[in-house]
Amino acid sequence: MGYQRSPREASEVSKADLESKLRSEIISFGKKMVKLGLVFGSEGNISVKLPGKGYLITPSMVDYEEMKEEDIVLVDEEGNVLSGYRKPSIETPIHLAVYKARKDVNAVIHSHPTFSTVVAILGLKIPPIVEEMIPFLGGELVTSEYGIPGSEELANNVVKALGNKNAVFIANHGLLACGSSLKDALRNTMLAERIARVFVLSSLLGKPRELPEDSIGFQLDLFRRLHKMKERSHVYPENRLKVYESKF
Ligand SMILES: [Zn+2]
Repeated sequence: MGYQRSPREASEVSKADLESKLRSEIISFGKKMVKLGLVFGSEGNISVKLPGKGYLITPSMVDYEEMKEEDIVLVDEEGNVLSGYRKPSIETPIHLAVYKARKDVNAVIHSHPTFSTVVAILGLKIPPIVEEMIPFLGGELVTSEYGIPGSEELANNVVKALGNKNAVFIANHGLLACGSSLKDALRNTMLAERIARVFVLSSLLGKPRELPEDSIGFQLDLFRRLHKMKERSHVYPENRLKVYESKF
């Protein structure tokens, strides 16, 4: 029989494993954002919760194409750098404010997709016009009040406008979406952008019609149930940590 790791040692190894995996996932999601036309170069920012440690966030001014795992910065809930030699994204206060307000959120993506930015510049809100925007995003999508990039005021405005939903337009700037995982946050980003595109185009041809009230009620109920499930289960990444632990 070889050396057996104690449960504590196994947990430390699995935590290091999870951190490295999440760092690499952030980079691959950054590259996906560029490929999908959601941002250019180093624009936007991505963060993920690292259970028991803090938050991993993309650095300022590093192209996703050139980003390495060690470029990702680990910060605590106040934004203090715990590890990393890069400067964390200027929008770190928004990410941290979202995590503080929303226990169901494990990943946050901020991007600059064209149609969401159009809506954000006009300061519009999009009423429930297609079913899927209700169970996945929470219904009506609104634009936050304006704030200077990187300011606490902007962070507060974004969190206030986001409420319990999964996407919000940032005034004169772009989009923020969150989710229970990076995959979920990217799906919500793409869904919000598609809805913004559909809304802008249909507005050019006429007045977009809202969904009937009974349909909205039904879908909202679904959203609330999904939301509660995520809050209760902490599906990600805590459960992934358990999976990692079981391997040792
Ligand atoms: Zn931005």
